[in-house]
Amino acid sequence: MTQQAHAERAHALLSASGASRWINCPPSARLTEHIPENRSEYANEGTAAHELSEILLSRSLYPCNSKERKRMADLLEQFKATNPYYGPEMENAVQDYVDVVNERFMEAKSRSSAALVLLEERLDYSEWVPDGYGTGDVVLISDVVLEVIDLKYGKGVPVSAVGNPQIRLYALGAWSAYGYLYDIQEVRMTIVQPRLDSVSSDTMSIEELTEWAESVVKPAATLADAGEGEFKAGDHCRWCKVKANCRARADENMKALAHEFKDPALLDNEEIGSILYITEQLKAWAKDVEDYAFEQAKKGNKIPQWKLVEGRSNRVITDKAAARFSFEIADVDMDKYLKPQELLGIGDMEKNIGKKELAKLLDGLIFKPQGKPVLVPETDKRPELNSIDGDFADEDFT
Ligand code: SF4
Repeated sequence: MTQQAHAERAHALLSASGASRWINCPPSARLTEHIPENRSEYANEGTAAHELSEILLSRSLYPCNSKERKRMADLLEQFKATNPYYGPEMENAVQDYVDVVNERFMEAKSRSSAALVLLEERLDYSEWVPDGYGTGDVVLISDVVLEVIDLKYGKGVPVSAVGNPQIRLYALGAWSAYGYLYDIQEVRMTIVQPRLDSVSSDTMSIEELTEWAESVVKPAATLADAGEGEFKAGDHCRWCKVKANCRARADENMKALAHEFKDPALLDNEEIGSILYITEQLKAWAKDVEDYAFEQAKKGNKIPQWKLVEGRSNRVITDKAAARFSFEIADVDMDKYLKPQELLGIGDMEKNIGKKELAKLLDGLIFKPQGKPVLVPETDKRPELNSIDGDFADEDFT
């Protein structure tokens, strides 16, 4: 698949990537179908990472002759020379993903020397979802095991394979296409998120997967295809094209605001806990509404009671070389107009130098101090601290 092909992977109305949204909120599919996709820089970066991984995996997983090897090497060189997102960070992260896939392929080969590997495969799950299909990054089939592996290049939102409808739909599509050829009993679904050092897997029997497809996916897909069902707001709204101006989401959030707390005068900690949940949800919604209103105003669509004005700006030096020259001839001390050179942050150095290379170069020089205590929902994976007085008795966080 070329870069353009990767970026243009057609999206079905009931796409696998949108499954958590249309399964939970079926009418969102038809409501948003004609709203154009706003491709972000992150999405383009992810596309580039997928393209690079496909070249590397094709080279390592498929037997090829010298002519094909040369073609792959040329493709790789061309990618490195021309892709604006390519750099040490991408090279390292994609290599980590490729290593996981190679490892799983070796496992598959150890089960059966005739293991099948498919890259960037169109997976059709229309048996359960009208016109449903998606593109699976990697599909491995060997003996009784089907494994689907998905690369998530982003690092903003951790994505787990456990209970993940997107990768389950890919697995359904793979089973639908190859189930008649192989005696598949077990389905493994793996998501690799290399920039978060995360590899998560979920396993189901074919019976469990098809039962989920029949009882959850099929009814939701039928409603979604017909534009019917109930609007239901939740975490899945994060990826919805109408997340800012959706009435159901607004109603849900306003309901939360209208909650009335009863006597006594002071809230107890249980009530504070509930308010924190609501606050998280409201902050995300408020940001979406602000961004939407700003975009509308920029397009000239008036938002009543609001106006677009010029923001504050900072003075800038128009010619830095000339400014420096002026200081030099006036004999001004350099430390009065030049910043001292200092090291970049570790994240930026990793981006420029590469994670592994940096770890080698700064071996023993990187220290990760204990993090400040933060309050997070109970569902967060980090272990709970006893109390500030216990676990942080000797730390100074001021
Ligand atoms: S914002 Fe949420 S509730 Fe509204 S249509 Fe989208 S998914 Fe459904």
